[in-house]
Amino acid sequence: MIRTLLVSATASLGLMACAHTVTAPDDASPINTENMSETARVLSSDEFLGRAPGTEGETKTVAYLIERFTDLGLEPGGRDGKWTDPVTLKHSLITDVRTLNVSQSGAVIPMEQARDIEISSPNPSATIKVENAPVVFVGFGASAPERDWDDFGDIDLTGKVALFLVNDPDFGVAEDDPISGLFGGRRMTYYGRWAYKFEEAARRGAVAALVIHETKAAGYGWNVAASSPGENYAVAGTGAKKAPVDLQGWLHEDMAKKWIAEAGYDLDALRIAARKRDFQAFTLGDLRFNADLGLSVETVESQNVLGKITGTTRPDETIMLSGHWDAYGVGEPDAEGRTVRPGANDDALGLAGIMEIARNLKAGPAPERTVVFAAWTGEESGLLGSEAYAQNPVYPLDKTVANFTLDILQTAGPAHDVIQVGEGQSELEEMMAAAAAKQGRTISPEGLPENGLFYRADHFSLARRGVPVLLIMGIAGGSDLVDGGREAGDAWVADYIGNRYHNQYDAWDPNWDLRGAAQDVELFLDMTRDLANSETWPELKASSEFKGLRDASAAARE
Ligand SMILES: [Zn+2]
Repeated sequence: MIRTLLVSATASLGLMACAHTVTAPDDASPINTENMSETARVLSSDEFLGRAPGTEGETKTVAYLIERFTDLGLEPGGRDGKWTDPVTLKHSLITDVRTLNVSQSGAVIPMEQARDIEISSPNPSATIKVENAPVVFVGFGASAPERDWDDFGDIDLTGKVALFLVNDPDFGVAEDDPISGLFGGRRMTYYGRWAYKFEEAARRGAVAALVIHETKAAGYGWNVAASSPGENYAVAGTGAKKAPVDLQGWLHEDMAKKWIAEAGYDLDALRIAARKRDFQAFTLGDLRFNADLGLSVETVESQNVLGKITGTTRPDETIMLSGHWDAYGVGEPDAEGRTVRPGANDDALGLAGIMEIARNLKAGPAPERTVVFAAWTGEESGLLGSEAYAQNPVYPLDKTVANFTLDILQTAGPAHDVIQVGEGQSELEEMMAAAAAKQGRTISPEGLPENGLFYRADHFSLARRGVPVLLIMGIAGGSDLVDGGREAGDAWVADYIGNRYHNQYDAWDPNWDLRGAAQDVELFLDMTRDLANSETWPELKASSEFKGLRDASAAARE
């Protein structure tokens, strides 16, 4: 039923010259599901070794992506006419904990890594020493001028440890609380993410940033928070304006209570105080943090892969489509002895979708604006390939019209709806609703807005610098499937997250029903085509945390 609405777009399908094209009979969509399946099958096959950055799996993956981009007729999209853009990653592990404690007037509270605290270094060296650093309780640590909220006042964090509450100030407050809804209510805002908190601490000169773990507000238990104690991946110095903190991580709630009690306060009372507008960060008594740590540090050379179609009349204005090529590599054998974590849905299928968009665009008239196709590295280690790009972009971000990211596509068949991740960010949301309506589909909100998915995929590296973005992620919520409704959509998500996510079972399956994934890909194709042939600059909404940033570069777009 939905498929019959798409007939107009099929006329050019038979003309494709790409070597990988298979024309699917009886398929009214411009997105060829057999092509998508084949791309995902190759990328998730054993010889790609789970596509871990810096391994032989990367060499094979990058070669395959370049071959496909070439076959599709794209131009190299990296610097100096290259297909690839180098990304240097730093991997570090705390291997030797010589000292780790807090003290207050002579009383020492020792801590054990992974049990009481989970710290790692995004700014690693062989030894990290922090001696007698004062501890500042910063509440939720939000500096949000668009919400007229500032937890910091004029406190100086230089050389100190910043101690944060998890999530954002209105999480879990009563409906009649004066700040209810100010930070998105149940939906997490950027201020709730640990990534924001660590960076805010770094901007203010702190040596360490710790977030007090609470299961409900974090969205996961301590076992998850402390699952890789002491390990960190970061982008190696590429022009970030401010060096990160030396140490960052989680403080167990029980340990946080001890610290705070030792300093003469009560954690529950501080939580209440931090939810008030007049809260100001303050130093916790004479509490001092001490650490003497030995680390192993290794450098991993990796690369993003970039292709493009140059715009005919406004080549300096770009629309970007992206996915990530990396997956989880080789791990411990499962019950059947399999070690490769193939990342078939995540995100071989996303890349397959990007290639179908490229194929369709190349089949039509050249766009007026430039369309860039990016396959990022290091997503699973912390959005690192996209972050490296955003720190040092090939195409200026203030003239990047939009980024569309595909990360994990559902394989359970056509759907009546598309799940929107994040809300109140940009005018792309209304554009997506209009494009979905053309498909006979509607927009549904994400399933667990408190998990802050909007802040947890590659599009966010661009979003946080003011670029309007959309993410389609098959696990953002159960779709209303044509066959089986919401219940079947929820069941697919539950099976994927429970049994396949990031493990050996995220494997290619010849029985996938990719018609729903194709609908989602077609949505981005449609929006890309519209934007690439218009003079529209979608704007950020007043409720976006990043509107100020985008507005600051408005002159570049006039
Ligand atoms: Zn992914």
